[in-house]
Amino acid sequence: ETITVQELANRMAERAVDVIRELMKMGVMSTINQVIDADTAELVVAEFGHTARRVSEADVEIGLAGIDDAQGDLAPRAPVVTVMGHVDHGKTSLLDALRSTDVVSGEAGGITQHIGAYQVTTESGAKITFVDTPGHAAFTDMRARGAKVTDLVILVVAADDGIMPQTVEAIHHAKAADVPIIVAINKCDKPEADPARVRTELLQHELVPEELGGDVMCVEVSAKARTNLGQLEETILLQAEMLDLKANPDRPAEGVVIEAKMEQGRGSVATVLVQRGTLRKGDIFVAGSEWGRVRALIDDHGGTVDAAGPAVPVEVLGLNGTPEAGDEMVVVDSDTRAREVSEYRQRKKRDVRAAAGARGTLEQMFERIQEGEAEELPVVIKADVHGSLEAILTALEKLSTDEVKARVLHAAVGGINESDVVLARASGGFIIGFNVRANAQARDLSRRDGVDIRYYSIIYDVTDDMRKALSGMLAPTI
Ligand code: GDP
Repeated sequence: ETITVQELANRMAERAVDVIRELMKMGVMSTINQVIDADTAELVVAEFGHTARRVSEADVEIGLAGIDDAQGDLAPRAPVVTVMGHVDHGKTSLLDALRSTDVVSGEAGGITQHIGAYQVTTESGAKITFVDTPGHAAFTDMRARGAKVTDLVILVVAADDGIMPQTVEAIHHAKAADVPIIVAINKCDKPEADPARVRTELLQHELVPEELGGDVMCVEVSAKARTNLGQLEETILLQAEMLDLKANPDRPAEGVVIEAKMEQGRGSVATVLVQRGTLRKGDIFVAGSEWGRVRALIDDHGGTVDAAGPAVPVEVLGLNGTPEAGDEMVVVDSDTRAREVSEYRQRKKRDVRAAAGARGTLEQMFERIQEGEAEELPVVIKADVHGSLEAILTALEKLSTDEVKARVLHAAVGGINESDVVLARASGGFIIGFNVRANAQARDLSRRDGVDIRYYSIIYDVTDDMRKALSGMLAPTI
């Protein structure tokens, strides 16, 4: 019996890439789905500073939550949905409109509490959880930190405007995360709305709508007139059914921090989306490098609750400090253990920051290519004009070998922004800027996270570097 790298990472609440790196140091080349034996797993666990316990000869249990769920303990859970799209296409309006469809809050007097996520109960009695923080940087940033929060993306496209640059960004973020997309064609109340054009434009981005023979579901809605929202929800539920989403509610809770802040009089407040198990009042937990004991749980209607199960977002009071969005939350069995884990993580965070400054993503990629470990070179390309972009893309296509391929995460005209950095980081890739610059936020973020940005003004230089990169020979620019 064995464990995959991904599952091991999950059990330790560590990032899979860090586990892969650790394995590499031990001379074991692996991928996320690689199966490793219990002995190796035990070594990795110790390396991360966790205590491993052999549950059986074959299996190690990590001292955190780390209990594996038996198939029979799994129960269906609500899908978790994120809304993305171009600015002004109606993300916020749609989230507000969908929220108003909740049949339960109607009874409760319709008090809404903005906690970063909310759950609605549809006409049919099914539940859907929406992450209420639109913006793909937030989405991918969480993913970059190892948290898979979203099951589905709703791509909002205004029917009077069509596909715009941030729509394309959103598509690339969702695809890089391998999350299915449902398209909400919004503003269909407008006389100039042209949903057919939106469908056709989607084709250029390898999203083939059902109406055109593909498998991408599109729903024509109006957030303003509140039309077809029920149909959009039914579509979400249909897509979710295909994903067969399940979780074990009867175990110590694990989840992700969606938002966290300090509030006067309340202390540190974190919104947590529970992913497995049930979070209860009195539970001791670690969130990122902070820890605490649940003093109170508040739901998205502002009411106090005793417990929150899978896919239920709640505000948690009782943390000793403020974690970051995307941090994993996990319940542990004692405060000694909580303190131990949080101290270890704080130390680790400092190490990671220091390492990020010293070694960029590109250098790490090269190492992996040289080792024969990586088969792809993930890259985001930004250029000043379409012509250059096309030329670079064509050159990359030609340079890719059977062993190593360039994987273009996103290619667009325009300056390098935060979204590009986050996208590159989430896939361990780097950024090519051709006759464009990075804005200040992108520069700061890339420095903080060690994402390489390479600037060029001559196509030949790009292709020359890429050829070297793909053969693992490029010297880092430090
Ligand atoms: P976001 O930037 O994507 O969050 O977009 P907003 O939700 O802020 O909406 C941008 C603008 O579009 C606002 O003025 C909204 O009132 C308007 N809007 C949003 N949805 C609709 C719609 O379905 N129909 C019409 N006519 N206007 C809409």
